[in-house]
Amino acid sequence: MRILIFGGTGEAIDLADALVRQGHQVTTSLAGRTRKPRLPNGHIHTGGFGGVDGLADYISRNGFEMVVDATHPFAAQMSANAVKACAQLNAPMLRLTREAWQAGAADNWHHVPNIQAAADRLGAGSHVLVTVGRQHIEPFVLRTDCTIFIRAIEHPEVILPAHVNVILERPPFRLSDELAFMRTHEITHLVTKNAGGDQTAAKLEAARMVGASVIMIERPALPEAVEVYSVEAALQYLGDHSASIA
Ligand code: NAP
Repeated sequence: MRILIFGGTGEAIDLADALVRQGHQVTTSLAGRTRKPRLPNGHIHTGGFGGVDGLADYISRNGFEMVVDATHPFAAQMSANAVKACAQLNAPMLRLTREAWQAGAADNWHHVPNIQAAADRLGAGSHVLVTVGRQHIEPFVLRTDCTIFIRAIEHPEVILPAHVNVILERPPFRLSDELAFMRTHEITHLVTKNAGGDQTAAKLEAARMVGASVIMIERPALPEAVEVYSVEAALQYLGDHSASIA
């Protein structure tokens, strides 16, 4: 089958590698934001398509028989475009996403709708680990009354003031490292998107253990689509679909 995967996640890489091993013709599409992304096997498309119409044109010109949206749960524009373009073409589409994290009884989470609201929730003097990526960090940079630690894969493209520290790291993260970091820097708040998944979940347990508050940015709403929550489930779905059109 000719399969187009919208990527930018570890799951997208694992899915593409598995589908290539099964003999499918796979193209993974990346937005092109990360300078040195991890790349899956198969073909790579880099950069946007120019909205829904451009995407629909790309899908039909290349004869893709299946589209998989395996983007991050916060890539709402791309996910919406994928649904609309596939609806236009009447093309089959699957969304591979992660189940949202849920707070446990011992957790101290505050739910907020966006990054600005997260920054607004911080009290003066807070020591904050910010794990929302390197873009859209301005609201934290403006909190000169807090000590901010931005953790990202690549350095933000702006000059940062002295109260903002950058830690360059790539998931997965281990609980022992998260705990050591939070204790060393006396972290009082963790700011995170509700991305879900195992690779970055240790910070939530560490926050619980050190008594830090979690400011949880809730997911954007996405248009309805067939959804699966693991690479294995995606492979099963695609296998069934492939058999049904053979
Ligand atoms: P977004 O706001 O949903 O998308 C904005 C535009 O960027 C899209 O309309 C599309 O441009 C282009 N684009 C986005 N993802 C693309 C992809 N995989 N392939 C080709 N074009 C893409 O996206 P975002 O939140 O900036 O995320 C960009 C990428 O980073 C995604 O691949 C996502 O999986 C990954 N990522 C995002 C986050 C996050 O927190 N948002 C975290 C980790 C990884 P056109 O309209 O021109 O087609």
